[in-house]
Amino acid sequence: MGWVNRRRDLGSIIFIDLRDRTGVTQVVVNRELNSAVHDKAELLRNEYVIAVTGTVKQRNPDTINKNIPTGEVELVVEELRLLNESKSLPFLPGEAVLPNEEMRLKYRYIDLRRDAMQFNIELRHKVSKAIRDYLSEHGFFEIETPFMTRSTPEGARDYLVPSRVQPGSFYALPQSPQMFKQILMISGFDRYFQIVRCFRDEDLRADRQPEFTQIDLEMSYPQTESVWEVVEGFLTAAFKAAGQEIKTPFPRMSYDEAIRRYGNDKPDMRLPAMVDMRESLTAEELDELAGKFRMREEFPLQLIRIPKAGEISGTERRTIGTYGAFQHVQGPQFVQLMTDPKRFAKDYPALSEKVLAFAQIQPDDLWLLAGAASRPENAAVMEQSVQHFCEKCGFLRLDLAQKYAMRHQAFEKTGDPAKDFRFLWVSDFPMFEWDNAEKRWNPAHHPFTTLHEEDFAKLDANIDSVHDPKSPLGEIRALAYDVVLNGTELGSGSIRIHRQDVQSKIFQALGMSDEEARARFGFFLEALEYGTPPHGGIALGLDRIVMILAGADSLREVIPFPKTARAVDLMVDAPTPVSDAQLKDLGIMTRKPKE
Ligand code: ASP
Repeated sequence: MGWVNRRRDLGSIIFIDLRDRTGVTQVVVNRELNSAVHDKAELLRNEYVIAVTGTVKQRNPDTINKNIPTGEVELVVEELRLLNESKSLPFLPGEAVLPNEEMRLKYRYIDLRRDAMQFNIELRHKVSKAIRDYLSEHGFFEIETPFMTRSTPEGARDYLVPSRVQPGSFYALPQSPQMFKQILMISGFDRYFQIVRCFRDEDLRADRQPEFTQIDLEMSYPQTESVWEVVEGFLTAAFKAAGQEIKTPFPRMSYDEAIRRYGNDKPDMRLPAMVDMRESLTAEELDELAGKFRMREEFPLQLIRIPKAGEISGTERRTIGTYGAFQHVQGPQFVQLMTDPKRFAKDYPALSEKVLAFAQIQPDDLWLLAGAASRPENAAVMEQSVQHFCEKCGFLRLDLAQKYAMRHQAFEKTGDPAKDFRFLWVSDFPMFEWDNAEKRWNPAHHPFTTLHEEDFAKLDANIDSVHDPKSPLGEIRALAYDVVLNGTELGSGSIRIHRQDVQSKIFQALGMSDEEARARFGFFLEALEYGTPPHGGIALGLDRIVMILAGADSLREVIPFPKTARAVDLMVDAPTPVSDAQLKDLGIMTRKPKE
């Protein structure tokens, strides 16, 4: 039974490609063998649903199709039943050329019939199952948490659900099960996980969805390493389910190192790190260079290298730094570049030799030097931090990596999982980050994350400086970590605060009054006081993991019923206005949106 994927009518013989979830089989209807069946087969069209019985035969050697697993056989039909017809379709699942995405999303049920989508959804199932199995075998219970709840602390906008029985009150859909999973530790469940939908009303970027799925977990009494081990374990199982053998443990790097060497807190390790050339230069050499290129000596002198970029033209060289994200973050204003190695070699032969050797530059590599601009007349330039400078260099590194991707091929799959999947743990994130728009410090992860033992004194000393951009709050390190793959963040987590007094301090440092904290998180603060075990956890994006494993370039390829970048479901046509009666029931009045 299945769909007519394609029908070829050769007169007395009709070939039908019969398709079901497992693929396609050729079915043959022969007028000479059975003319009544042949008459019926003439009526078949694309995507009709049929049932056939018959005899499976070896195909003639010259008609064998090596491209499909069933290509050596065919079914010679004895009986054919038409189970259902289909209207003429907006596009055909069997066709290689894809219609535009709007069509695909509107007629998602047809789009999902396509081979590639069937593969992706099956892969998603296998990956989730492998993760569930692994975690269950390692003592984790899958426990559900509510969707109709109250605001959680992830910091995005909430989706709200109005309450009918309490007009004017709203539930919030969870941005994550954060507080519930911590409460589950307080409730004695030790090891919790959930493959769970989370909801965040964010301005959508290309690779975000308003509802997405997390592999969420929490454990009692963990060291950071115990959480990492669990994650490495289930990722190994998930990748294995997709046919990829990955190696653990993953390399580790502190946030500071990631910023210094990659200018980024999710380093893409498929390309070389930046190298601070100061380490190789004498004080005189550094003086000379810094003077000549108007760079600040107390900032790193970053060498950025893109391997195998080959010869590039002088014009191309001169335009480096004038495009991409680097340009967008005003890189040229803050960063001084030396992009002409030939000229450099002529002007500074000895130095040039040294640089080549120190940074292990190969003849066909593209490389340049980036230093922090010294323009005492420009206050903004002089105020930039080492971190901002490194981040700008990091953008430049990635811009160049993109531009020369065809040449260095480092983003191409090689078939060797060790090269294709560069995992990394980044740890010791800052506890607080400065929000320039709001002029205040915010939690970099969420306010339940604990800090390094040694940094408590700093917290105490600066507990009332939430509006001071220069506050040492920025130096406090959290016991927070991210797992990164090929330059994308797969997930974040942390060891949590398990003492109420510490939790109160963090709220105080965040400028939240006691009343405010009680109003938002009262139940949670109270729970902390009833014998909370030390605990910690993490959450990883399932959609993204499946997307990477499917080799897809959009989350929409691995989510059965996704939303568009404007958060619209084109198939069911949501969101929609609702009836006045419904609104009345909820005690809600709406205002016409401004044009
Ligand atoms: N709830 C956090 C998040 O969704 C993850 C965690 O801290 O476990 O980012």
